[in-house]
Amino acid sequence: MQKRLTLLGSTGSIGDSTLDVVARHPDRFSVHALSVHRNGDKLVAQCLRFRPEVAVVGDAQIAARVVSALRAEGCKTEVMHGPEALVEVARAAQCDTVVAAIVGSAGLAPTLAAARAGKRILLANKEALVMSGQIFMDAVRDNGAILLPVDSEHNAVFQCLPPCADKEAKLHGGVSKIILTASGGPFRTREPATLVDVTPDEACKHPNWAMGRKISVDSATMMNKGLEVIEAHWLFELSDKQIEVLIHPQSVIHSMVSYADGSVLAQLSNPDMRIPIAHALAFPDRVDSGVAQLDLAQIAQLTFEKPDFKRFSCLALAIQAMEAGGIASAALNAANEIAVEAFLECRIGFMAIGEVVDRVLNALPNTSAAVLDDVLAADANARRLATGFVTELTASAPGVQPGVQSIAH
Ligand code: NDP
Repeated sequence: MQKRLTLLGSTGSIGDSTLDVVARHPDRFSVHALSVHRNGDKLVAQCLRFRPEVAVVGDAQIAARVVSALRAEGCKTEVMHGPEALVEVARAAQCDTVVAAIVGSAGLAPTLAAARAGKRILLANKEALVMSGQIFMDAVRDNGAILLPVDSEHNAVFQCLPPCADKEAKLHGGVSKIILTASGGPFRTREPATLVDVTPDEACKHPNWAMGRKISVDSATMMNKGLEVIEAHWLFELSDKQIEVLIHPQSVIHSMVSYADGSVLAQLSNPDMRIPIAHALAFPDRVDSGVAQLDLAQIAQLTFEKPDFKRFSCLALAIQAMEAGGIASAALNAANEIAVEAFLECRIGFMAIGEVVDRVLNALPNTSAAVLDDVLAADANARRLATGFVTELTASAPGVQPGVQSIAH
């Protein structure tokens, strides 16, 4: 049966890769809805190609522009706007599969709505799960939703786990731990003293993956791996002791599962997000993703090393937040979003990202995250605190912030 998709965040890097796979299999997949924030022009092009019933944009002005461009081409796609519209398309009866590929906390409400509507959810938007953890997993279970990881590491673990990887099966299947691999990002070997001078463009230049700017910065600080540890904790019901992070600069092994008998299963491929996306879209079938087969003889060497928690303080902070439980992960995520945005706008330096997150976690008392309102309050409070710390840091280093010189030359 053909799957009907709602693709949240269609203009992003994951959105592009998803539509590339969808276009290869028109018999298997069709598009019910697309969503973007501000990129109306790209949305128009996508609508003309994929003819969704609905498209969602951030505000009324962009909606008006998109409508007139679509009607001029005879395209009847209905155009909606705003956060409520995202929730509406995520739970629409006309779609069975929701690809959650919005970046950041803006993805939480529609992704949770998809879980509550019992959809098949392809999860790229890790921030939604990091923020709402138990609440999200309860919604998936209680409403019969199916959660398929798109993040390459989690998709790799999913592929290496026993076929029925619920808690029981994991125990009986003898899973001892998972090993999340990490490339180490662009600054793995850079002299630590020079990290203060890193520019946004340098931070976004990932050695192996082409991704959106926020996740690229998260990869450079290794906050991304920290968010992935939290994501894995919820997805696979594992304790922090059962999740190991291993640096693997070639990004060929996307993650591994260790078993009680000493076996380790790994998933390997060229680093291209179309592979995990195609896997999750077609699961349990396998379809062509458009990516070339792996040539191991050409790669020749796969290497591994332990992460340096001193260099990558954000990774340590994320693991601490996961261990603390409660609202800590939501606060960490919100503080990181504010700090990364400030870094990308050259208001603070690269090393200040971890400092802002650390200060927020220390300033905000950790309380329980039993209901969504707890999470949303923690998110708002952490953002307020982080914004204050960013302002302080900017004021305490008057003049040009690291990165500004090379951007504004
Ligand atoms: P991009 O920045 O490339 O794209 C983000 C998408 O979200 C765009 O469509 C953007 O619309 C939309 N968007 C941004 N802000 C909002 C908002 N406030 N409300 C609604 N929509 C919004 O991100 P990526 O594709 O790189 O990442 C998407 C998610 O997938 C992230 O959570 C990331 O961590 C995760 N992920 C990404 C991977 C990758 O390889 N890129 C790998 C694994 C996970 P517009 O274009 O209009 O701004």
